[in-house]
Amino acid sequence: MLTGMQIAVIGGDARQLEVVRKLTELDAKLFLVGFEQLDHSFTGAVKESLGSLELSEIDTIILPVPGTGSDGKVETIFSSEDVIITEEIISKTPPHCTIYSGISNDYLNGIIKKAKRRLVKLFERDDVAIYNSIPTVEGTIMMAIQHTDFTIHGSNVVVLGFGRTGMSVSRTFQALGAKVKVGARKSEDLARITEMAMTPFHLSNLAENVRDVDICINTIPFPIVTASILANMPVHTLLIDLASKPGGTDFRYAEKRGIKALLAPGLPGIVAPKTAGQILANVLSQLIEEDMHIRKGKSQ
Ligand code: NAP
Repeated sequence: MLTGMQIAVIGGDARQLEVVRKLTELDAKLFLVGFEQLDHSFTGAVKESLGSLELSEIDTIILPVPGTGSDGKVETIFSSEDVIITEEIISKTPPHCTIYSGISNDYLNGIIKKAKRRLVKLFERDDVAIYNSIPTVEGTIMMAIQHTDFTIHGSNVVVLGFGRTGMSVSRTFQALGAKVKVGARKSEDLARITEMAMTPFHLSNLAENVRDVDICINTIPFPIVTASILANMPVHTLLIDLASKPGGTDFRYAEKRGIKALLAPGLPGIVAPKTAGQILANVLSQLIEEDMHIRKGKSQ
């Protein structure tokens, strides 16, 4: 239970509603900033403006998945007001206050560091990334179906990267009957790809492995699908780039060559906001409970 914890949820999309639901069920007291247009109300949660929030009593701040923009602006789909997080705001919280976001950027890292608070980036955690790969894969399948006139079954699929997302993507496309090749650079990844009955190749041999590709799915956040790689792909190839912005594809050259290349960020929040929110809510509730116990232990 989170009885006694005072938590500010600042901005966010439908995923944050699952977080609010879970944390209020656990008896935390919630302050919702940037939610004034939300029709729904939650027992134990009050809507506040950033200016009227008693920051000195806040134990935890939960930011939206992207954290803030590079100007400190927080994404607020349930509000028309600008909500901007500054170092001054963070400094008004008590020293034990922990800030949670999905990812971060130089601006957010900088203000948190200057304010000497702790920032937890949930998407850096393996558990969150692996759970999140489930709706990501479903969104990728949706895109593959929407943007092709052939079945996934029987098609040549190349997946780039064999991390938490790449592994889930390649296994699922294989289960749908695609002939899946996976490009990686670690020998243990190449061994695992073989063990899973897919075709491995080292990324240094990427150019020769895309000559007959129908669907290429990139999960590597690095410029990997360069013009010279695209030049080797058939023109009918559908390229779905899942890597975080700006992706790993030379989109300008893809367009020039007539290859359909789609950057597809944030699929979990688009195809399954409820599940994506529950993934965050479950991890957040555990982490906040741990914070609470550590703090109580220190004060005894
Ligand atoms: P991950 O577990 O860290 O996997 C990244 C993969 O990329 C690993 O195979 C890694 O290989 C490889 N890689 C990284 N840099 C490389 C380089 N310079 N050259 C060659 N290979 C490189 O990450 P993840 O959780 O799977 O996420 C992958 C990307 O997808 C991230 O950008 C993430 O933000 C994004 N993502 C997007 C969505 C969406 O909805 N579009 C959803 C979830 C995640 P090594 O292990 O050898 O380093």
